[in-house]
Amino acid sequence: MDSSSDHRSLQAKTARELLWTSNHSFHGWTCSQCEWNYPLPTLLNDPEAKTAYDRLAAAKFRDHKCADHHSRLAPADDADSFTPRIRKLVSQGFKPKDAVELFLQEVALEYRNNPKVLAQAKADGEDFLRRVRAGLI
Ligand SMILES: [Zn+2]
Repeated sequence: MDSSSDHRSLQAKTARELLWTSNHSFHGWTCSQCEWNYPLPTLLNDPEAKTAYDRLAAAKFRDHKCADHHSRLAPADDADSFTPRIRKLVSQGFKPKDAVELFLQEVALEYRNNPKVLAQAKADGEDFLRRVRAGLI
């Protein structure tokens, strides 16, 4: 049985994605294909304000043309963000809520002596679920 042609998907390779990125110098949304970005305003703490910002970012993302920006040569530096780990669990088939729970259990073991990291992980998990609820990801 030859089903190799079923696995070929050029679309998946070229589809751009709206990615949440967080590192020491940048917190905000980025494009997986180009250098377009939409930084998070520093004073934004209210969850509803954050969701409004996320929706705006999603709209700007849809409108931007990758050709107008430098293409992204390397994946965005995501050093300070736990979101990719949660995304990975979801891509493995976990429901977002279960993925966040599992992720927080893992992090609690890995960083049990580091309350600052745990707080960051919890915040990332809450942000992730808030975005799922808002239909953004
Ligand atoms: Zn782009």
